[in-house]
Amino acid sequence: MPFSKLGLSRPLVQAIAELGYKTPTPIQEQAIPAILSGKDLIATAQTGTGKTAAFVLPLLEQFSQAETLRGKRIRALILVPTRELAVQVEASVAQYAKHTHLTSMAVYGGVDTQPQKERLIEGVDLLVATPGRLLDLAHQRALHFDELQVMVLDEADRMVDMGFVDDIHKIIVRLPENRQNLLFTATMTNDVRALAYGFSDSKMTDLAADISISPNIRAAANIKQWLITVDKDTKSALLSHLISEQAWDQALIFVEKKHSAAKLVAQLEKRGIRADAIHGGRSQAMREKVLAQFKAGELKYLVATGVAARGWILVN
Ligand code: AMP
Repeated sequence: MPFSKLGLSRPLVQAIAELGYKTPTPIQEQAIPAILSGKDLIATAQTGTGKTAAFVLPLLEQFSQAETLRGKRIRALILVPTRELAVQVEASVAQYAKHTHLTSMAVYGGVDTQPQKERLIEGVDLLVATPGRLLDLAHQRALHFDELQVMVLDEADRMVDMGFVDDIHKIIVRLPENRQNLLFTATMTNDVRALAYGFSDSKMTDLAADISISPNIRAAANIKQWLITVDKDTKSALLSHLISEQAWDQALIFVEKKHSAAKLVAQLEKRGIRADAIHGGRSQAMREKVLAQFKAGELKYLVATGVAARGWILVN
């Protein structure tokens, strides 16, 4: 089925075509018409399924005929768990909105609030935000929610894991009651359901579309996975050995904790392998710099924690 049959108009279809998307992914086929019909939606979809376009495209379509936005107002709020995801989602919004007049912006912590406040003065159609910074900006009256039409929770399970439930509730009470709610999650846990039902009581039960999409199997099929059991003490030696023996050109190495990331970098460097790390403990500027070096191929081995890893997807 072509994108135009899903109810998307020309400026969006053109942007999608320019990105080389030929047909909608399963989540897009199901979610786009549901969102366009104004329904609330809970969707189980992992990263890689095309979920971002699944909610961004219908939002852009819905807002395409909208009147001018007042200052400090937003039409859609997209809440995400990490700074990296905020940047990635906003970059996608900007690509899809290329041929429309709609604006977007990402706000997240770890950077100065002033430039974000200044950009909000004119109003932004689609705001992508991490919960803490959003509350901060709302407290400072840098934005108002009275024109908000849609709220999206992206990677809701991750937000629950990262302890954002209280912040999300604090945000929800500030939003107009009459709004559309969209929730995307990789896994459907009781906590995620509770969150969804909590913010969208009557509508979720009557009108909600509940969509479940399994992960993109084709993408997974390109990845070889294997397990090596090894003593803790010899892990870094084995990794150094694998890097040289297999002549890996670039490797992204996930570890669980911040301090293990720093330790592994030091251990690899002792064996003559230059590596660097990204984790929640490093500044945003540093994380961006390291990611840029890795993307450019200047850095070959990048050690990342799970938190950073979630956002990693965004650097493709
Ligand atoms: P997401 O699941 O939103 O993180 O998207 C995963 C990747 O799939 C991104 O790089 C998108 O640009 C890409 N993508 C999204 N929709 C399509 C589509 N219909 N056809 C081809 N690629 C797509």
